[in-house]
Amino acid sequence: MTIGNISNNIRFAPGYQCAQLIALIPIISGNRPTLYIAESSGIETHHETEEFRGWSRSVVHAVIRDVMTPIESVMKNGVRMACADGAERLCFPLLCEYIGDMPEQWLLTCLVQPACTKCLYRGTPDANDPRYQRRNAVNKLNKELANNHPRTDAHALEQRARCNDSVPLRALGYHPQHPFSTNYPFGTGIIDAVGPDLLHQISKCFMDYLIKAWIWKLMKITWKGRGFSKTQLKMEFDSRFALMPGYTGIRRFEHGVLTKTHAWTVHEYKEIMKVIIGALIGLCPTEGIHLVMQYLDIHRLAHYSCHTDESLAWLENAVDQFFEQLKSPNGPFIKYSLVSPESETQKIHYQRHYANTVREKGALPSSSTDRTEPLHKLLKDAWRRSNKGKDSIEFVLKEHTTLSAFQSHIDSFDPGEVSENAELEHLAPDDARIPGFL
Ligand SMILES: [Zn+2]
Repeated sequence: MTIGNISNNIRFAPGYQCAQLIALIPIISGNRPTLYIAESSGIETHHETEEFRGWSRSVVHAVIRDVMTPIESVMKNGVRMACADGAERLCFPLLCEYIGDMPEQWLLTCLVQPACTKCLYRGTPDANDPRYQRRNAVNKLNKELANNHPRTDAHALEQRARCNDSVPLRALGYHPQHPFSTNYPFGTGIIDAVGPDLLHQISKCFMDYLIKAWIWKLMKITWKGRGFSKTQLKMEFDSRFALMPGYTGIRRFEHGVLTKTHAWTVHEYKEIMKVIIGALIGLCPTEGIHLVMQYLDIHRLAHYSCHTDESLAWLENAVDQFFEQLKSPNGPFIKYSLVSPESETQKIHYQRHYANTVREKGALPSSSTDRTEPLHKLLKDAWRRSNKGKDSIEFVLKEHTTLSAFQSHIDSFDPGEVSENAELEHLAPDDARIPGFL
């Protein structure tokens, strides 16, 4: 947990200790203690059952609610805080952001996958709901819901209170369980707090969706019609990357980019983005190249660390054009059934909310999970060093505390200043603290 009024550059630098570990949240899995507790409470323990998943969701929320109890009372009643100008003010802390990837966001908001956490877009039809099985009905429903219907904590609360029957609730994308933030004041809650995760959305989807699912398949279809095999096309595409002339700041991919034996990192995807257009010219139809260009625009603009109305308009425009290109009824992506005209993957759909999120909460890189990864690293390392037995959590916490204490000791240690002050304090303790006096 960290507080809001710290500059982002300082907040996420591990050495500054701006983020503090306040709890380790359990993962409810099929291990023995979990199964024992579930069985003794009379809960069916199979992972596929709705009952077990509902129970494990409730446990996570109960833990977070418990951890947040002291802060929750302060949220309602306020707390006196000393401000930098010397005055004391009554302050009301609020939950502003909860950084997590998509599965985590669904778990925290108690939403049914793949519902959108920012609007009422439900994603795909729910197989359990007979009313929404027809394709046209889903299409119509999604269009209606996605159009200017933001999802809010108040809406979630109202729907859960109104619907006792779980079918309409599911159709709207809600699980019956209430999230931990139900009683938070001022309409803030977990739905308001979750936001775009650039790492797993725009950066990672570049390869997972744009290149592999759409562009590569489009190229395959195009060149198959001209009598070229998949192997020949792959060789040509990879060779273009391998033969790229060297240049400062540009990486050369000697083995191409379609190899399956290499585990790609998002950093490498960003290197591919720098040169991809050059490799596609002449191989990919124009519609595909335009789609990649729009995607790269969105990627760049979403990573801006500050925005103006003009840059936000560019971002909105790029997102609109991207979806227009992708879902154009006469375009190749619909024609070859590479994308479905009525539904879109949640990670891609989230781009529609980027500009609004910037307006509400500020630049997007600060809510991306890559900023919080370094903070987890220390814990993960400590877990790796532990014997993973009964006392391992205690070991992890001890390691974490020791390292944090040592780091803060190093941070506060400035040999030059200490020796000078020590000498001066000995002579004139009061005057020595005023800079420039002696
Ligand atoms: Zn949405």
